[in-house]
Amino acid sequence: MTDPAPLILFNSLTRESEVFKPIDPAMVRLYSCGPTVYNFAHLGNLRAYVFTDTLRRTLNWKGWPVNHVINITDVGHLTSDADEGDDKMEAAARSANKTIWDIAAFYTAAFKDDLVRLNIRHPTLWSTATDHIQDMIAFARTIEAHGAAYELDTGLYFDTSKVPDYGRLAGNREGPEIARIDAVEGKRRASDFAIWRRSASGEQRQMEWLSPWGPGAPGWHLECSVMSMKYLGQQFDIHTGGIDHREIHHCNEIAQNQAFTGSERTGANIWMHNNFLVDRGGKMSKSKGGFATLRSLIDRGVHPLAYRLLCLSAHYRSELEFSPEGVAAAFTRLKRLAMAVAQLRAKLDGEPGWLRLLDEIDASRGADLSYQRAILENGLPRQAQDIIRRFDAAIAADLNVPQALTLLDEILGLKAVSPEDRLRTLASMDLVLGLGLLSVDRRSLSIAPVDAAISETEIEAALEERTVARAAKDYAASDTIRDRLLGLGVDLMDGDPLRWEWKVRLDL
Ligand code: AMP
Ligand code: ZN
Repeated sequence: MTDPAPLILFNSLTRESEVFKPIDPAMVRLYSCGPTVYNFAHLGNLRAYVFTDTLRRTLNWKGWPVNHVINITDVGHLTSDADEGDDKMEAAARSANKTIWDIAAFYTAAFKDDLVRLNIRHPTLWSTATDHIQDMIAFARTIEAHGAAYELDTGLYFDTSKVPDYGRLAGNREGPEIARIDAVEGKRRASDFAIWRRSASGEQRQMEWLSPWGPGAPGWHLECSVMSMKYLGQQFDIHTGGIDHREIHHCNEIAQNQAFTGSERTGANIWMHNNFLVDRGGKMSKSKGGFATLRSLIDRGVHPLAYRLLCLSAHYRSELEFSPEGVAAAFTRLKRLAMAVAQLRAKLDGEPGWLRLLDEIDASRGADLSYQRAILENGLPRQAQDIIRRFDAAIAADLNVPQALTLLDEILGLKAVSPEDRLRTLASMDLVLGLGLLSVDRRSLSIAPVDAAISETEIEAALEERTVARAAKDYAASDTIRDRLLGLGVDLMDGDPLRWEWKVRLDL
């Protein structure tokens, strides 16, 4: 085996690519800003978690165990970046006529379902903001005791002049993002922000807690400082989020961390940000409404892993444009991969060595990816090892996944390597890509849209009938079946080199 490629990651804080050196090689500590659970996650949000999942898988594949924390924001995130305005959770609960707790439970469960469908691994720990209110109050008291906060009628505010280099992460302290924030009366400077929002007198929020600054609720930025430090320590390895967080949320987290520890340490050695998923109207966003969810793709007959593959086909630091054509192309690519795997598997049908390996893979599921990888790569011939080496080099170069993906096609077509060794190599790479290529097949990828006039089972049955008719040279009957299916929106693909027999016309 050749030496593994050193992992290079782009650090938003230094704006440079750096060789990753874990603080403790026995356990890399990773924190990802989680969803605000007042609505379904849109596809853009999910791009953020495909990215963190790929990062975590890469770390683990390259030999580091990872302690990964994702928070659930169920309080504090306002409808704008300003310090005034409605809490997103309060507003959603009011308009649905439900309690905030019901709203949070429903959308948290929906979010976790989406992750499962996308093969995104659950973090080591989910941590929910409202379970940490007392920790947040204690944290804010320390910030206040360190002289980095001041009180106004509306609550406790962070004094951004008290920390070195405020806004370094955004690259521009008085940038357009900060200038956009409305002034709150009495705030000393535009960049100062609420760490505790006192309820207006006479107003009772659904969610409020007593605090030294009156009844109220924590500011949104506080939760991530508190929970990341509580579970990962004052300085951990990597903090992730979407690129919108680079401008304000993460600058504010860093400021709080510095004020709390009384040091210049930012909290994480590396800050990483995924770029946006955009559609024709610009950045996809929950507050704009009318956004695309994973569920809406599935309802139209697109397998969720096609969306994962679409995300993987762009570098995480590039914008990715969402379009029906793009999703359809990713879906076709996934089908091609699944079919090529199925063809190789057919050659190994019933071979004892292969069956033993499948058992071993099954038994090692849940173990570290580096362990699973060792099983898969054991005894690979030189050409296959070379593919793995190039795959490693690609993902080690700041997660160049688009390039890594091309190696799947390369290994599948490498005739000099035996089918079993091709599949082993592919499966090892797939530990990072998470496409589940050894288990997806034609049947599992074929989903009929919810409004389709015919179910998958009925389609399969009609196809069976048609095969019988064709075998009996009853072409009239075969054509009738085809025409009936066509009328129901199902295209038959006779002679398709992929041997995909049918597809429902996508109407995205
Ligand atoms: P939220 O639920 O709004 O707190 O966002 C959850 C995650 O999704 C955060 O890391 C955001 O930065 C990220 N995010 C929001 N919109 C997009 C988008 N259009 N594309 C990619 N990531 C996004
Ligand atoms: Zn956060």
